[in-house]
Amino acid sequence: MEKLNFDTIILGGGPAGLSAAIYASRGAVSTAIIDLNMLGGQPSNYLELENYPGFPLVGGYDLMEKFEEHADKFGVQKFPMQEIQSIDLKSKKILTNDYEFQAKTIIIATGAQPMKLGVPGEKEFVGRGVSYCAVCDGAFYKDKVVAVVGGGNSAVEEAMYLTKFASKVYLIHRRNELRADKIVQERAFKNEKIEFIWDSVVKEIKGDNLVNTLVLENVKSKELSNLQVNGVFPYIGITPNVDNISGQLEQDAAGFIITDETMSTSLEGVFAAGDVRKTPLRQVITAASDGAVSAVYAVKYVETHKEAVKSAV
Ligand code: NAP
Repeated sequence: MEKLNFDTIILGGGPAGLSAAIYASRGAVSTAIIDLNMLGGQPSNYLELENYPGFPLVGGYDLMEKFEEHADKFGVQKFPMQEIQSIDLKSKKILTNDYEFQAKTIIIATGAQPMKLGVPGEKEFVGRGVSYCAVCDGAFYKDKVVAVVGGGNSAVEEAMYLTKFASKVYLIHRRNELRADKIVQERAFKNEKIEFIWDSVVKEIKGDNLVNTLVLENVKSKELSNLQVNGVFPYIGITPNVDNISGQLEQDAAGFIITDETMSTSLEGVFAAGDVRKTPLRQVITAASDGAVSAVYAVKYVETHKEAVKSAV
């Protein structure tokens, strides 16, 4: 197995990780970025973004490609499609199927992933009517009926996106008021293909080979009903990607990593940036900002701990 040493290793190649890569490699420390998949992170799956400054309307994939090209310019070494075997944050060793990495500092920018409904039928019907990515799977539902679950920005925006294909989109929310930004809500209320089902949760997903029915419960009346749909897209929030990391540093009850304003975690020389950390706003711009801050402090850490890290490595 090949052994590789870097000043800074960034785990995760989304907006936080790629911004950190730009700042760290520009700060003249040797920098590597490791990802389980191709680089780009969650926004690569967003059809469009309209709130990243300087880009009034840009494809998610296109924007992340620009981030990656920008990081390439400063010579970051990229290790996509890595299968992680272990991460020891204290000694800063990362073992993948192909390499043994040793870092002086680590920036955790592993992001977050969709939360599951946790109801019968959900796991069984993934890819056969249950999807967590409207951009990836929306086109399969041309002239079909689908449901989106949730009331946040993701649920409402993805419900609108699905109206491009589906004949009808139910938006099922557990309260009678959406959490999504007002401007997003207003657009959805005007969309005639969207029908809102309030105060309701999905209790079960049923079907034969493919999904055909959702069992709903009205949370106020406790009444159960069946809703005929061809597909369901849960968008009920996110959970941090902390496999191989959890338990090694301070996290909140939901697993998000706790940092200070320099993105330092409870472990010396370990930083966290973007959706994986406890933060009040999870956007591409805040992830990019976190990445920049984390890298500046990671570079400072390498410079001020030169002797200490030399003897530890
Ligand atoms: P979110 O804002 O946390 O919303 C999750 C929604 O799902 C809430 O409406 C919540 O209901 C509902 N929910 C949670 N658990 C549920 C359960 N077990 N069963 C049924 N419903 C459940 O999550 P998100 O929409 O994925 O957004 C995540 C972050 O990304 C947010 O900060 C969001 O602003 C951001 N985002 C921004 C944009 C944009 O600005 N264009 C686009 C997408 C996402 P309650 O409301 O009752 O809690």
